[in-house]
Amino acid sequence: MKQIKADVAVIGAGTAGMGAFRNALRFTDNVYLIENNVYGTTCARVGCMPSKLMIAAAEARHHALHTDPFGVHLDKSSVRVDGAEVMNRVKSERDRFVGFVVEDVMAWDESKRIMGHAKFIDEHTVQVDDHTQIRADRIVIATGSRPVVFPQWQVLGDKLIVNDDVFSWDTLPESVAVFGPGVIGLELGQALSRLGVRVEIFGLGGLLGGISDPVVLQEAVEIFSAEMTLHLDAQTETQLTAEGKVQVRWTQEGERGTFTADYLLAATGRRPNVDNLGLENLPIELDARGVPVADPHTMQTSIPHIFIAGDASNQLPLLHEAADQGKIAGDNAGRFPNVQAGLRRSLLGVVFTHPQIATVGARFATLQAQYGERFERDVVIGQVSFCNQGRSRVMLVNKGVLRVYADKATGRLLGAEAIGPAVEHLAHLLAWAHQMHMTIPQMLEMPFYHPVIEEGLRTALRDAAAKL
Ligand SMILES: Cc1cc2nc3c(=O)[nH]c(=O)nc-3n(C[C@H](O)[C@H](O)[C@H](O)COP(=O)(O)OP(=O)(O)OC[C@H]3O[C@@H](n4cnc5c(N)ncnc54)[C@H](O)[C@@H]3O)c2cc1C
Repeated sequence: MKQIKADVAVIGAGTAGMGAFRNALRFTDNVYLIENNVYGTTCARVGCMPSKLMIAAAEARHHALHTDPFGVHLDKSSVRVDGAEVMNRVKSERDRFVGFVVEDVMAWDESKRIMGHAKFIDEHTVQVDDHTQIRADRIVIATGSRPVVFPQWQVLGDKLIVNDDVFSWDTLPESVAVFGPGVIGLELGQALSRLGVRVEIFGLGGLLGGISDPVVLQEAVEIFSAEMTLHLDAQTETQLTAEGKVQVRWTQEGERGTFTADYLLAATGRRPNVDNLGLENLPIELDARGVPVADPHTMQTSIPHIFIAGDASNQLPLLHEAADQGKIAGDNAGRFPNVQAGLRRSLLGVVFTHPQIATVGARFATLQAQYGERFERDVVIGQVSFCNQGRSRVMLVNKGVLRVYADKATGRLLGAEAIGPAVEHLAHLLAWAHQMHMTIPQMLEMPFYHPVIEEGLRTALRDAAAKL
């Protein structure tokens, strides 16, 4: 077995691992990057980018089918989706994005890149497959996450799919049962539905799109159920039919039914890839899910020279968070033992459905937990419905609600949740204001053009200001 002595070893060459490697290199050349699958990152290969490409195709069909209210009439029968062409664009554009990432990795010293599955032997030793042992002063875990797949679905064989499989299709199927109405399930479910695929979405507990504010949730349920069949709190049984189809038998609030589909798409959450890492060989503190506990400002675990970053840390499974955490972990592994707090930004989450969903700063549920019985008294909520919002109506995207939360004593923006048009942009304005610790009156001093959807945000801020 090859033996290597390293200053820093980074496990996982995704967004977080690449960031960690790049930043550790600023302090020492003796850094190794270990990857057990392929270069190119989850985001570019099977995550953010191909999902947004699929959504873009879905929007094209949706717009073509909904021009009548503008007085523009198209022959709807001529709106035809070529599944092979859709998937061809998704895959070729995706491959272009992946190509840029792979180019970056290939530019790094080949002798410092090791292919294989990494496992801890002890606090300082990582073994890669059965060919290399690295003795490293400092180690960064950046192994990402994978979809949760329930054991009862295994009987479905290759009819059970996850996001990775969707992006390798050569054409679109006729029907899909989507399990999990969270961010990934809702984005993909709506995109497939808008591309003409028969879709039903199954969930538990009434949750949808990661929304915690009951007013926003209610609005979202109404909007999405007008377009797709949602079973948000269903008991289900699945089986494979003699024809090789997935049959879902469901019951919900006394109703029952059956949905037969080509595939079951499992989108019921993701689990950090820390279970096959040999963590049992380390005296490391783990949380209830078996994930190493880490300080979110330094990404340092309970073993001072071991850091964790990205989805593996189970903190915030988002691309920009993986990049930030990777930078922090890499910096600290590089300059160890001089560990420093890195930049953590205001929370910002966007779901690319139509309308979009967003969360900024503290979520409604977080504030309820934080303020406890003082919540009603001390937190002000400013609200706007997009139904009569000028520009949204002009463009016929006037659906949704935005709720901003502010501290009554200080007037400071605490957070926001929303479903509505252009919410990806409104959420950025809110996140920037949140990170700058702005108060609602200060935000109202900022310029607003006319007529824009941002005027809806101003209405919500004015509503909050009136209650302060
Ligand atoms: C369908 C989908 C859509 C998404 N859309 C968005 C979006 O729009 N916006 C957004 O912000 N986020 C989105 N995300 C989330 C985002 O993609 C992730 O948060 C981000 O990619 C995580 O990066 P990472 O570096 O932690 O993990 P990864 O990029 O998965 O990297 C981990 C790497 O570690 C390797 N590895 C694992 N175990 C080992 C081991 N033992 N030894 C060696 N190597 C190992 C893996 O092979 C992998 O290459 C989406 C995710 C999905 C699945």
